[in-house]
Formats: sequence, C-alpha cells, structure tokens
Amino acid sequence: MNQKTKPETSLLVRGYEVVIGFETHAQLSTASKIFSRASTAFGAEPNTQACAVDLALPGTLPVMNKGAVERAIQFGLAVGSHVAEHSVFARKNYFYPDLPKGYQISQFEIPVVQGGSVEFFLGDEKKSVRLVRAHLEEDAGKSLHEDFIGQSGIDLNRAGTPLLEIVTEPDMRSSAEAVAYAKELHKIVTWIGICDGNMQEGSFRCDANVSVRKPGAPLGTRREIKNLNSFKFMQQAIDFEIRWQIEQIEDGFEIQQATVLFDPDTGETRAMRTKEDAADYRYFPDPDLPPLVIEREWVERVRSEMAELPRVMAARFMADYGLPEYDATTLTQSQAMAAYFEAAAKACNQPKLVSNWVMGELSRRMNSGDVTMATLPVSATQLAALIGRIADGTISNNAGKQVFEALWAAEAPEGDALAQVDGLIEAKGLKQMNDTGALDTIIDEVLAANAKSVEEYRSGKEKAFNALVGQVMKASKGKANPAQATELLKAKLG
Ligand code: ADP
Ligand code: MG
Repeated sequence: MNQKTKPETSLLVRGYEVVIGFETHAQLSTASKIFSRASTAFGAEPNTQACAVDLALPGTLPVMNKGAVERAIQFGLAVGSHVAEHSVFARKNYFYPDLPKGYQISQFEIPVVQGGSVEFFLGDEKKSVRLVRAHLEEDAGKSLHEDFIGQSGIDLNRAGTPLLEIVTEPDMRSSAEAVAYAKELHKIVTWIGICDGNMQEGSFRCDANVSVRKPGAPLGTRREIKNLNSFKFMQQAIDFEIRWQIEQIEDGFEIQQATVLFDPDTGETRAMRTKEDAADYRYFPDPDLPPLVIEREWVERVRSEMAELPRVMAARFMADYGLPEYDATTLTQSQAMAAYFEAAAKACNQPKLVSNWVMGELSRRMNSGDVTMATLPVSATQLAALIGRIADGTISNNAGKQVFEALWAAEAPEGDALAQVDGLIEAKGLKQMNDTGALDTIIDEVLAANAKSVEEYRSGKEKAFNALVGQVMKASKGKANPAQATELLKAKLG
C-alpha cells in the first residue's frame, strides 16, 4: 500500500483537529564528541572512534566540549530563546546494548536553551511554532542487525556524538505545517552552521508527536513517530498516522500512547513500544558534571559574530532591492544562494532580473544536473555581465538563455566576465537589431507580405498584431528588439 498522498492542509480532517509537536535531534558539527576527544566523523570502521570515555570504562570521566555549548548558544540566539546562565546535566537511565554507561547524559529540568520560536510561511500564511526548549545531550551507539545471523553487532562510533534536542509546543495543525516547520528548522541549523543537516546520515532526525481531537476538546493521546529521515516520509507518515488514529477512534477504540516507526515500503506506521514516561527514566543530576555556567559576555560575543539570519536577510532584500517577499524567501534558502544573488545584483544593478534568473534558469539548470551552489559553472559576475547586456538592449532575454547555456558549458572565450559574454554574443551572432533603419526595411517587407493580417488588425482583431510581431521577429532571425518592433509596427499601422 505504498500510495502517494497529498499533504493534508485542511484544519479539520473528517471533523477532527490534528495536533502535532516535534522533537528534533540535530547533530552538532563539532570535530570531537560532547564529553570525549574521540572523532565524530561519519562512516569510519565500526568501533574505531570510541574511546575509553565513550565505552564507559571504569574510572573515566566526561569533560564538556566547549564547541557544543557554543553551538547551542548560536541556536538559542537564532530562534530568540533565552540562553540559560545556568543549566544542569542529568542522567537518563535506561538499558540498551548501544548505551554502555546504562544512562544517557542529557539535560532535564534546566535546559540550556529555553523558549523561542520558529517562523515560516505556509503558502501565504505566516506561522510561528513556539519552542519549549533545546537541550544538549549525547547520542547512543548503533545496533547492527544486517551483517549478522542470530546475533547483533554494536558500533559505538556514534556514542557520545553531541546532539541538540529541539522540542516544540504542540502548535502544528497539519502535516504540511509540520513539514514546513521542519524545513525551516533545517534551514536555520545549516545556515548558522551548527549542523550539516544530512538527513540520510542521521544528522537531523525528527520525531513527530501526533494526536487528534474534536475541536475544543482537551488534547488527545499522542503517538510519537520516530526518526523521520526525509521530508517526504515525514509527510507520508504523519498523514497515515492521522487517518489511522481517526479510524481507531471512529471504531470505538482508545489511542494508547506509543512510540511508532514509519515503514517507507508499506507507507504505514507500526507500534514499536508503549511509550515510557519521564518517571521511567529516573532522571537525576549527573554528579560527574558541574552545572553548565554561561557568562553573558560569551553570549554577547557569539551574538556579535553571528551571520545575518535568513529571515533578517530576506527582509533586507525586500527593503534594499525592492524584491517581492516570495523572491526574498526563495533566495535566502541557503547562504550560498543568497551570497550569489547579492554579488550579481550589486554587479549589474538589476536585482529583479538577477532574482528571476537565479530562481529560473539557474535553479532549473542546477536541478537538472548534479550541480550545487558550490560547483556552479557560471559565476555571479558572469551572470551579472549577461544580465547587463539584456538590460541595455544588446541581446534579447531569449538570446540571453543561449549565452547562459554557453557559459554553463564553459564555451566562453578568455577574458573578464564582460569580455566573455560579449565574445559569446559576437560568436553566436545574437546581437539585437537596434538600428531602426534595418528594422524599418524588415517591417515594410513583412507588412507587404502579410496584407491579410494587416487588414484583420485594422478591422479590430488584436491577435493579428501579435502575428505581425512574430513575422518581424522571424524575418530578423530573432534579432529584432521586440519592444522596438512593436513600437515601429504600431506607428506604421497608424
Ligand atoms: P516527553 O517528556 O514524553 O518527551 P513532552 O511533554 O516533552 O513529552 O512532549 C514531547 C513532544 O510532544 C513535544 O513536542 C510536545 O509538543 C508534543 N506533545 C505533547 N502532547 C501532545 C499531544 N497531545 N499531541 C501532539 N503532540 C503533543
Ligand atoms: Mg521528550
């Protein structure tokens, strides 16, 4: 039953209101682990990156990684949270083979990041999802089942990897809103550079808590869908879960609080275990770690060093370059794209044209090949030179696309960006016919050869005019300036 589903956007699904809260584990991009010096690099041979601390050998003690704390501070500032001056590490006790200590070091009652919100657009509607908290904790190892028969392997390379667990209020009301939230959060953590955002490798893992209720009723019982590692699965899993819960309730069953897994092959969620409550974990402050004290000077230093945030940058693009909100939001998808746009806009002083080209040709070309912003074959200065030549009437927009393709294929001659663009225009004979004398002759010939269209136009058929413009463009082999051709034609037709 691997059916494709459209995201549910309506507030009520069969008379039920959907309630969703997220817990996201973002792996912090430090070189070493949160409490040891072992490397956090992904993909090494099993158990080659687990030191004595990660293996919980007797006598070892955890030492806090300052870089992980600094990343938590950056996150707190990016989402308008309170960064606690004083927070506490706690032991979360449970037994599992991939957790050598028998407890996970986490934060419980006093987390480092408190409150804040994530804001984004869902269609035209502005949404704000409140954050409860974000706390620092260590990751566990991994159980390996595939290469073993009748037994499991344990890889402790991931044990002790720093995580920031980001918890929302149950503020989301549809799978579409949940996915939009997750995408925005992903954009924030990658933008500020605290997490590489690689969902396949597990660097950004979302758990969706889902419940349904009749409007106005108290919150329903939730089920938690674990480890959603793609936005597509996230939407499918939540929509399946919503339908499943409503059917259960309609059939007279009560929802049991549970942790469930999504199976992408069947498109269904399946209960993994009934959910533990906080009390089951017997949390208590970790006596091996002192309270985490963050002096205000540190927070202020981090604040002063932080890059402009995507939302702030988008607002600036609207104010400084007169871009519509849609353009500004799209261009601030990543730092690289925003920087590219801004460099090109400054170089040719045609921000709206640059925006159209970046969102249009450039994105289309990027999506159709294996190209990222980092490996773009057309530089911002080249695009600016090309757009400059469209803006000054040297070439048409269509001819511009041919120049762009040639730049993309590295066919440009040597020289600076403008010389390259001019060289390509010359070599391909793309120059627009801006001399009215030549255009005049062409138009006279077209009018003579298309007496019928002329007559139709004069008798009030607007369409006939477009046909005549088309003929002029054709006769000029696409080199006539369409605006000029239109103007001249109108003048001649009286
Ligand atoms: P736990 O301690 O079990 O993790 P929390 O109270 O911290 O539980 O909540 C975990 C997540 O579940 C939060 O994101 C919260 O917003 C969400 N949540 C809580 N209650 C509900 C509910 N009834 N429906 C949907 N989400 C919920
Ligand atoms: Mg929780």
